[in-house]
Amino acid sequence: MRQQSIKQVIVAGGGTAGWMTAAALAKLLNKDIKVSLVESDDIGTVGVGEATIPPIRTFHKLLGIDEKLFMKATQATFKLGISFENWHKPQSDYIHSFGMTGKECWAGEFHHFWLHAKKMGNKDDFGDYCYELQAAKQGKFGISPHNPINYAFHMDASRYAAFLREFAENLGVKRFEGKIERVNKHADNGFIKSLLLDDGTEITGDFFIDCTGFKGLLIEQALHTGYEDWSHLLPCDSAVAVQTKGTPEIAPYTRSIAHQSGWQWQIPLQNRVGNGLVYCSRYLSDHDATQLLLNNLSSETLTEPKIIKFKTGRRRKGWNKNCLALGLASGFLEPLESTSIHLIMTGIIRFMRLFPFTGITQHAIDEYNKQLQSELESIRDFIVLHYKVTDRDDSEFWQHCKTMETPKSLAHKVALFKETGRVFLDDGDIFRVDSWVQVMLGQGIMPDQYHHVASLMNDQELSRFMQGIKQQIAQRLQQLPTHRAFIEQYCPVDT
Ligand code: FAD
Repeated sequence: MRQQSIKQVIVAGGGTAGWMTAAALAKLLNKDIKVSLVESDDIGTVGVGEATIPPIRTFHKLLGIDEKLFMKATQATFKLGISFENWHKPQSDYIHSFGMTGKECWAGEFHHFWLHAKKMGNKDDFGDYCYELQAAKQGKFGISPHNPINYAFHMDASRYAAFLREFAENLGVKRFEGKIERVNKHADNGFIKSLLLDDGTEITGDFFIDCTGFKGLLIEQALHTGYEDWSHLLPCDSAVAVQTKGTPEIAPYTRSIAHQSGWQWQIPLQNRVGNGLVYCSRYLSDHDATQLLLNNLSSETLTEPKIIKFKTGRRRKGWNKNCLALGLASGFLEPLESTSIHLIMTGIIRFMRLFPFTGITQHAIDEYNKQLQSELESIRDFIVLHYKVTDRDDSEFWQHCKTMETPKSLAHKVALFKETGRVFLDDGDIFRVDSWVQVMLGQGIMPDQYHHVASLMNDQELSRFMQGIKQQIAQRLQQLPTHRAFIEQYCPVDT
């Protein structure tokens, strides 16, 4: 292994991944390292990736990003979860919310009490006991120290990259405009030495971060790291995206609507809506997918539909030699649970914790790759759950999903929940027990049993406990304005 201290980091690519990385390195390691970024306006970015999950707020706090400024700059709205429509069966729906449902006790989570109450005749949905879920349903939102709420954002992806670019350049990140034509390697150990641009500029560095998108110019084309294909577990391989005009009501959640050969997203921003259809090209042509999307929009189109092809899976190593891959260069899991931007963030933080100030060691590389693999596998399982556990079999696509392989780790989680009502998280799990429960119930699994501790409450105590939670939620909801009204006073876009 090459032992050299890292002073110069070169970020290749200026999409969401590239600028998030440059901004974080410049903000947090600025004293010791110099950061440069190279991107090509001619090539452009993928231009999608607009829904996030709550930990993005931690990333922004770490960087000292002002939430209102960020939201204004990116036309952002608040997101309280995802509404899954037609996933369990046609005409069904449920919300996977970011909130905590009910109250926990030492023995287990709230769903055991809900299951017991249900057995005793309670007719409430599990989601009736979640504040964020109810706020989402009512189209309400508000932030107050007395009434905490767990949220993420919907944002304009291109504006987010531009916002972070300004932030990073103000911290001294040097930007090169140009097309990378060649990646030069050291002859002795195959480490990357420099990037050669189309105008002849050579950019040398000690460490390189590959944020060049699906092609993985450094990690794959130069270092031949390899790709583990997961399309036998997640068959969708295409998406078509289009932007439409904004609507008067702004839903504080993403919509994910299952179709016969895939699913459609709707992401409301302040001034427009991001729409797309993720589908499997074996069962739906690009032409028919585009028509299906255009026939299911709720407002006028603003852009031409754009087709994007992908292969689900992971780069075999996220860190190889003196190169780290982030964003689409590191692999791809479809955006069903909005996890890609989150993975960029956890990749950056994990890398900074292992940052090779005094030289690269194989143990640091192995640790990074081990953690990344378990994180990716647990997210993969969570996404596969939506396709696997469903009553749908009304098309070739859904019939294929029924018979396709299930990861062992997921099969175990589902069986344990069905038999006992128990859920335990794995090492890399980014989703909470509550998230697994919401989605498993939503997709139609009803556990055969629950924790005995729930049945130790007598009927009166149980009813008081359940009613107390609902009353508290109702009181908190009364204090909330509509989502649009809150945005208009908190972070309106300048017109
Ligand atoms: P890109 O945006 O492709 O950027 C690549 C950069 O590399 C560009 O700047 C390009 O110019 C540069 N580049 C490439 N080649 C060269 C070269 N030769 N020379 C110089 N520069 C070069 N994620 C979420 O978290 N939430 C979502 O809702 C979500 N939705 C998605 C929907 C779809 C259909 C897809 C495909 C992805 C979605 N994602 C989502 C993922 C998200 O879009 C990406 O994680 C995010 O945009 C990061 O992309 P990137 O920066 O890695 O790549």
